Amino acid sequence: MSEAWYLFETKDTVNIVRSERSAVPNYPTHSRWGRIGAGVVSVAVFGLLVWLYGSIVVAVAAGLGAGLTTFVGAIYPDVDHHNSTPRKKAVRAFQSLVLVAVAATAAVYWTELLGAVEPVHERILGAESAVPPEALAAAVPALVAFVLTALVDPAIGLATRRHRGWTHSVPVNVVLVGAVTAAVWLLTAGLSGAQRLGAVAIVAAFLAGTFIHLGLDREIV
Ligand SMILES: [Zn+2]
Repeated sequence: MSEAWYLFETKDTVNIVRSERSAVPNYPTHSRWGRIGAGVVSVAVFGLLVWLYGSIVVAVAAGLGAGLTTFVGAIYPDVDHHNSTPRKKAVRAFQSLVLVAVAATAAVYWTELLGAVEPVHERILGAESAVPPEALAAAVPALVAFVLTALVDPAIGLATRRHRGWTHSVPVNVVLVGAVTAAVWLLTAGLSGAQRLGAVAIVAAFLAGTFIHLGLDREIV
C-alpha cells in the first residue's frame, strides 16, 4: 500500500489524485482491524483470567467485554470527522440518549408542566378549544428534544475541534483511558480479584483499540 488513487471533489471539478502515501484508512479498514484486535484481546483476557483465577464465568464476561471495548476504541477516533461512520453512530447514540432523557424528564414533571401550560392554553386558545392543554404541554418536550437533538452533531464537532485532533493523540488517549482505568481499579476494591482484573481489562482494552486505529492512521510511527 505505498500508493493509491483517490477522488476528491471541489465545487466544480472532480479530481483524481495519486497519493504518495497510502490512502487514509476508511471505516471498513478500521472496523476490520478492530474486529481482529477484538478477537485477539478477547482470547488474551479470557486466557489470562482462567490461568490466574480459574474462573470461567468471569473470564468469558471479561473477554467479551474487552473485545467490545477494543472494537469501539478502534473506531472511535474518527468521531472527529463530521462525515465519518463513527460520527454518525455517535450522533445517533447521543440523540437517542437525549430523547430518553427529555421523555423521562417530561414524564416525571408532567403535572408541573401541565400546570404551567394551562394558563397559557386558556389565554391563547380559550377554555373551549378543541386542542387540549395536554397537547400543548406535550409540544414543549417535543420542541426541546428537537432543538437538543439538532445540537448533538455540532456539540461533538466543538468537543473534538478538528479532524485528527485529540482523539488521534497517543498521549491524550493514554491519559484518558489511564484515568478511567485507575478509577475503575479504585471503585472495584470490594470485588474479587478475578472480577476486579476483568473490569480493569475491559476498560484498558479500549486503549488497545485506539492503538490499532492510530497505528493504521500512522499516528504512532
Ligand atoms: Zn482516524
